[in-house]
Amino acid sequence: MKKILSIVGFLVLLIFNSCMTDRESENSFYLNQINRIQLISSKTIFFSENIVENFNLTVSFFDRDNRPFLNNFDVPYVIYLGDSVIKEPKLDLSRPGKYKLRVMFPTRELTFSNEVEIEVVEGDYISQLVLDFSNETRNEYTLANKETYDFTLRAFGPNGEIPGVEEQIRRNLSLKVGNENGNRLIGVPITQIGLLEVQASVFGVNSNILKINSREDISFPIKEFQVVYHVFSNLFNPSQQTVESQINNSNIAFSGGIRSSFRRNLNAVDAGFRFKMADRNPDGSPMETRGINRIVTNRVFQDAQDRELLQLKFNNLWDPTQYINVFVEDLSSMGAAGYAYLPFLTSPVVGGLSPILAPDTELFYPIMIALDFRLFNGQYRDDNVLAHELGHYLGLYHTFQDCQTGDYCDDTPSHTLPSNQSTRWSNNRTNCSNAPFISTNFMDYINSNDNFTFDQKVRMTKVYENALFMPKDLNAPDARLKPFRRGQLDPSIKPIICNFL
Ligand SMILES: [Zn+2]
Repeated sequence: MKKILSIVGFLVLLIFNSCMTDRESENSFYLNQINRIQLISSKTIFFSENIVENFNLTVSFFDRDNRPFLNNFDVPYVIYLGDSVIKEPKLDLSRPGKYKLRVMFPTRELTFSNEVEIEVVEGDYISQLVLDFSNETRNEYTLANKETYDFTLRAFGPNGEIPGVEEQIRRNLSLKVGNENGNRLIGVPITQIGLLEVQASVFGVNSNILKINSREDISFPIKEFQVVYHVFSNLFNPSQQTVESQINNSNIAFSGGIRSSFRRNLNAVDAGFRFKMADRNPDGSPMETRGINRIVTNRVFQDAQDRELLQLKFNNLWDPTQYINVFVEDLSSMGAAGYAYLPFLTSPVVGGLSPILAPDTELFYPIMIALDFRLFNGQYRDDNVLAHELGHYLGLYHTFQDCQTGDYCDDTPSHTLPSNQSTRWSNNRTNCSNAPFISTNFMDYINSNDNFTFDQKVRMTKVYENALFMPKDLNAPDARLKPFRRGQLDPSIKPIICNFL
C-alpha cells in the first residue's frame, strides 16, 4: 500500500513538474527532503461555548539531519482532527472532550507531525481565578468618577496557568465593582464612593476579591506664595528666565497639569498651591531683579553642610512668614539636586511633623529650600526638582520613606528605593507587599513624574493651616502683617536631602 501511494505521489509530482517554473522545481526538490514535521498549537485548552473557534498552528519542517528549513515559502499540509481531515484549524467548542491534532505533508512517503492533544473543558477545570490590579493602576485608593482601573485576570488549572484563554475570558467575563456589574477588565470606571469589593467571574468560577477605597475629591481654595531666590555673588548667577520657568513649571505641577508618558495616577489632583516670583524687598521697595536676591560673599564653601554657610543662610533668610526662601548652592558634596526643611507646626495634627506649641517662638532653623546651581545652567535636567522640594516644604515625605509608617499618605503605595542604581530611576517600582506598580509621584526619585495625590493635597493643606513659619496666602488680608523674630540657630535641625542624581 505504502509503495502504491509512493508511486502515485511520484506520478503527481511528475505531472506537477511539467508545468513548474524553475523556482517551483527547486522548491519541489526541497519539499522532498522533509523528514519530520513539528506541530505546535497556540492553545491546547478551550472553554466550552456555543461557538466555533479559530486557533493558530505553528508548523515547522526538518530535514533528515533534523535541520529546520523551508521557512521562505509556504508548504501545503493537511490537518487531521482525530481521523478526519479539516480545512482550517477550527474547533466546535460546544462539544467538550479531548481531541488529537496532527498535520500531514505528502512527501514521497506520508509524513505526519507529532500529535498535539487539545481539550474543550467546562468551567470546573479552573482551579483558581486570580484577579489583580494592573501595574499602572495598582492602588487601593482612588477618586470616584475620575480615572479608571485596569485589572488582570488569570485562570489556573491542574497544570498551572492556562495559556491562550485571554480572549475567551474577555468574552465571558463578569466584573462586579461594589454593586455594579460590568464585563471588561480595562478602563473600568469607579462611580461609587466607599470601600468597594471587586470580583471577577467567568464560566461560573469566582475570583479572589480586591478592595478599592473610593473617595470624592475635595477642592480647597487656591493658596499662592511668593518665592525669593537667594544667589551668592561668587557662585553661578541664574538668569531670571530660568528662575521664572522653574516657578511656572511648579505651578503646572501643583495644578496637576503635567503629563508623563504613563497613564494618569488614580489619585492625581490639583494640589491647590501656586507660586510667584517675589517682586518686593522685605522693606517694601521694588526688587532690582524680580524674584532674585544677590548675597555678596567672598567665602567659597566646599561642604554644602558647612556650619558657617548654614549661619550665613540663616542670617540672610527673608521673613519666612512672607516668602518661601530658595538658595542656589553647590550641592555636589552631598550628591544632591536639592534639599528642603520640613515645617514645624503649631499643633500636633499632622503625622510625622513636630509641633511647637509656644505661639511666639522665634525662628530657630533655616526654613528654606536649596537647589543645586547645575539645575540652572543646563547640566542637570529635571524640571520638577523645585516642585519636589516644595512638597517637602509643605510637609510631604518621600513616597519611599519606609515600609512601616510610610509617607503618612495612604493613597501613595508604600515602597522602598531599589538599591540597584540601574533600576533606581525607573518608574517600575515594587511596593512593600512585593507587587509591581508604576510610580509617577513627584515625591519619588523617578525620571518621569506628574502628580501629587489627594492625600498629599490634604496633608499639605493641613500643614499650611498649622505651620509655624509659613507665609499666609498672599490673598489673605493680613498676609504681610505677621510678626517674625529671628532667634538662635539650632544646627541640629536637618533638612531632607534629595539625592536624585
Ligand atoms: Zn526629596
